[in-house]
Amino acid sequence: MKKALIVIDYTCDFVADDGKLTCGKPGQAIENRIAELTREFVENGEEVVMAVDVHEENDPYHPETALFPPHNIRETSGRNLYGKLDEVYRRYREQIYWMDKTRYSAFAGTDLEIRLRAKGIEEVHLVGVCTDICVLHTAVDAYNKGFRIVIHQDAVQSFDPQGHEWALRHFKGTLGATLMEKGTEVAAE
Ligand code: ZN
Repeated sequence: MKKALIVIDYTCDFVADDGKLTCGKPGQAIENRIAELTREFVENGEEVVMAVDVHEENDPYHPETALFPPHNIRETSGRNLYGKLDEVYRRYREQIYWMDKTRYSAFAGTDLEIRLRAKGIEEVHLVGVCTDICVLHTAVDAYNKGFRIVIHQDAVQSFDPQGHEWALRHFKGTLGATLMEKGTEVAAE
Protein backbone atom coordinates (compact mmCIF):
# COMPACT_ATOMS: atom_id res chain seq x y z
CA MET A 1 0.00 0.00 0.00
CA LYS A 2 1.34 3.43 -0.93
CA LYS A 3 1.79 5.75 2.00
CA ALA A 4 2.58 9.35 2.81
CA LEU A 5 4.17 11.00 5.83
CA ILE A 6 2.39 14.17 6.93
CA VAL A 7 4.55 16.25 9.28
CA ILE A 8 2.24 18.62 11.11
CA ASP A 9 3.23 22.04 12.47
CA TYR A 10 6.70 21.13 13.68
CA THR A 11 7.77 24.79 13.61
CA CYS A 12 9.67 27.08 15.97
CA ASP A 13 6.49 28.78 17.20
CA PHE A 14 5.04 25.43 18.28
CA VAL A 15 8.22 23.80 19.58
CA ALA A 16 11.06 26.20 20.51
CA ASP A 17 11.49 27.54 24.06
CA ASP A 18 10.63 31.02 22.84
CA GLY A 19 7.88 29.87 20.43
CA LYS A 20 4.65 31.89 20.47
CA LEU A 21 2.44 28.86 21.18
CA THR A 22 4.97 26.29 22.26
CA CYS A 23 4.63 22.70 23.42
CA GLY A 24 8.05 23.22 25.06
CA LYS A 25 10.11 20.27 26.26
CA PRO A 26 7.66 17.51 25.28
CA GLY A 27 7.61 18.93 21.75
CA GLN A 28 11.41 19.10 21.66
CA ALA A 29 11.68 15.50 22.87
CA ILE A 30 10.32 14.16 19.55
CA GLU A 31 12.77 16.16 17.41
CA ASN A 32 15.07 13.23 16.60
CA ARG A 33 12.26 10.81 15.78
CA ILE A 34 10.48 13.27 13.47
CA ALA A 35 13.72 14.03 11.62
CA GLU A 36 14.51 10.30 11.37
CA LEU A 37 11.07 9.35 10.01
CA THR A 38 11.20 12.20 7.50
CA ARG A 39 14.61 11.07 6.23
CA GLU A 40 13.41 7.45 6.08
CA PHE A 41 10.30 8.26 4.01
CA VAL A 42 12.24 10.49 1.61
CA GLU A 43 14.98 7.91 1.14
CA ASN A 44 12.37 5.23 0.43
CA GLY A 45 10.90 7.45 -2.30
CA GLU A 46 7.68 7.97 -0.37
CA GLU A 47 5.55 11.09 -0.30
CA VAL A 48 6.47 13.56 2.46
CA VAL A 49 4.37 16.64 3.20
CA MET A 50 5.24 19.49 5.58
CA ALA A 51 1.83 20.79 6.63
CA VAL A 52 2.54 24.20 8.13
CA ASP A 53 0.15 26.61 9.78
CA VAL A 54 0.10 30.12 8.33
CA HIS A 55 -1.73 33.14 9.72
CA GLU A 56 -1.99 36.81 8.88
CA GLU A 57 -1.38 39.33 11.64
CA ASN A 58 -4.58 40.48 13.43
CA ASP A 59 -6.81 38.61 11.00
CA PRO A 60 -10.35 39.58 12.06
CA TYR A 61 -11.91 36.73 10.10
CA HIS A 62 -9.89 33.86 11.51
CA PRO A 63 -11.49 31.92 14.39
CA GLU A 64 -8.08 31.28 16.03
CA THR A 65 -7.54 35.02 16.53
CA ALA A 66 -9.92 34.88 19.49
CA LEU A 67 -8.58 31.57 20.78
CA PHE A 68 -4.79 31.75 20.72
CA PRO A 69 -2.00 34.32 20.83
CA PRO A 70 -0.65 35.21 17.36
CA HIS A 71 1.51 32.36 16.01
CA ASN A 72 3.01 31.17 12.71
CA ILE A 73 2.49 34.60 11.19
CA ARG A 74 3.42 34.70 7.49
CA GLU A 75 7.07 35.55 6.82
CA THR A 76 8.19 35.27 10.42
CA SER A 77 10.89 32.94 11.74
CA GLY A 78 8.25 31.25 13.91
CA ARG A 79 7.20 29.35 10.78
CA ASN A 80 10.66 27.85 10.25
CA LEU A 81 10.82 24.13 10.88
CA TYR A 82 12.34 23.29 14.25
CA GLY A 83 15.85 21.94 14.81
CA LYS A 84 16.88 18.77 13.00
CA LEU A 85 13.72 18.67 10.93
CA ASP A 86 14.80 21.97 9.38
CA GLU A 87 18.17 20.40 8.48
CA VAL A 88 16.48 17.38 6.88
CA TYR A 89 14.08 19.64 5.00
CA ARG A 90 16.91 21.80 3.62
CA ARG A 91 18.79 18.73 2.48
CA TYR A 92 15.83 17.06 0.76
CA ARG A 93 13.85 20.16 -0.20
CA GLU A 94 13.34 18.92 -3.80
CA GLN A 95 11.58 15.78 -2.60
CA ILE A 96 9.42 17.27 0.15
CA TYR A 97 6.13 19.06 -0.45
CA TRP A 98 5.76 22.22 1.63
CA MET A 99 2.08 22.87 2.17
CA ASP A 100 0.70 25.91 3.98
CA LYS A 101 -2.53 25.35 5.87
CA THR A 102 -4.76 27.84 7.67
CA ARG A 103 -6.85 25.55 9.84
CA TYR A 104 -6.08 22.71 12.28
CA SER A 105 -6.59 19.97 9.71
CA ALA A 106 -4.02 19.57 6.93
CA PHE A 107 -6.96 18.71 4.65
CA ALA A 108 -8.92 21.94 5.28
CA GLY A 109 -8.65 24.32 2.33
CA THR A 110 -5.54 22.60 0.88
CA ASP A 111 -4.87 20.34 -2.11
CA LEU A 112 -3.67 17.50 0.12
CA GLU A 113 -6.49 15.10 -0.72
CA ILE A 114 -6.25 15.41 -4.51
CA ARG A 115 -2.48 15.21 -4.28
CA LEU A 116 -2.63 11.93 -2.32
CA ARG A 117 -5.39 10.47 -4.51
CA ALA A 118 -3.49 11.33 -7.71
CA LYS A 119 -0.54 9.32 -6.43
CA GLY A 120 -2.70 6.38 -5.34
CA ILE A 121 -1.79 6.87 -1.68
CA GLU A 122 -4.17 5.11 0.71
CA GLU A 123 -2.35 5.34 4.02
CA VAL A 124 -1.30 8.48 5.89
CA HIS A 125 1.34 8.48 8.62
CA LEU A 126 0.94 11.43 10.98
CA VAL A 127 3.63 13.05 13.14
CA GLY A 128 4.03 16.48 14.73
CA VAL A 129 2.16 18.73 17.12
CA CYS A 130 -0.22 19.07 18.84
CA THR A 131 -1.53 15.54 19.21
CA ASP A 132 -4.95 16.72 20.39
CA ILE A 133 -5.37 19.68 18.03
CA CYS A 134 -3.86 19.70 14.53
CA VAL A 135 -2.87 16.02 14.46
CA LEU A 136 -6.32 15.08 15.77
CA HIS A 137 -8.24 17.19 13.25
CA THR A 138 -6.09 15.90 10.39
CA ALA A 139 -6.72 12.32 11.53
CA VAL A 140 -10.48 12.88 11.75
CA ASP A 141 -10.54 14.24 8.18
CA ALA A 142 -8.36 11.36 6.95
CA TYR A 143 -10.80 8.92 8.57
CA ASN A 144 -13.84 10.57 6.94
CA LYS A 145 -12.12 10.48 3.56
CA GLY A 146 -11.35 6.78 3.88
CA PHE A 147 -7.58 6.85 4.34
CA ARG A 148 -5.89 4.31 6.58
CA ILE A 149 -4.19 6.09 9.46
CA VAL A 150 -0.91 5.39 11.23
CA ILE A 151 0.11 7.53 14.19
CA HIS A 152 3.73 7.41 15.32
CA GLN A 153 3.18 7.89 19.02
CA ASP A 154 6.87 8.57 19.60
CA ALA A 155 6.62 11.48 17.14
CA VAL A 156 3.51 13.38 18.28
CA GLN A 157 3.23 15.63 21.34
CA SER A 158 1.15 18.31 23.01
CA PHE A 159 1.40 21.03 25.66
CA ASP A 160 -1.48 19.17 27.32
CA PRO A 161 -0.49 15.68 28.58
CA GLN A 162 -4.11 14.66 29.24
CA GLY A 163 -5.17 15.82 25.80
CA HIS A 164 -2.26 13.87 24.31
CA GLU A 165 -3.26 10.62 26.06
CA TRP A 166 -6.93 11.08 25.20
CA ALA A 167 -6.13 11.68 21.54
CA LEU A 168 -3.98 8.53 21.33
CA ARG A 169 -6.92 6.49 22.64
CA HIS A 170 -9.26 8.22 20.20
CA PHE A 171 -6.98 7.52 17.22
CA LYS A 172 -6.93 3.84 18.01
CA GLY A 173 -10.37 3.19 19.47
CA THR A 174 -12.49 5.52 17.34
CA LEU A 175 -10.57 6.21 14.13
CA GLY A 176 -9.14 2.69 13.80
CA ALA A 177 -5.60 4.05 13.55
CA THR A 178 -2.51 1.92 14.00
CA LEU A 179 -0.25 3.29 16.74
CA MET A 180 3.45 2.79 16.18
CA GLU A 181 6.49 3.25 18.36
CA LYS A 182 10.06 2.89 17.05
CA GLY A 183 8.53 1.70 13.80
CA THR A 184 6.63 -1.26 15.25
CA GLU A 185 2.97 -1.51 16.08
CA VAL A 186 2.05 -0.88 19.69
CA ALA A 187 0.38 -4.00 21.08
CA ALA A 188 -3.21 -3.73 22.30
CA GLU A 189 -3.59 -3.06 26.02
ZN1 ZN B 1 -2.91 28.23 14.02
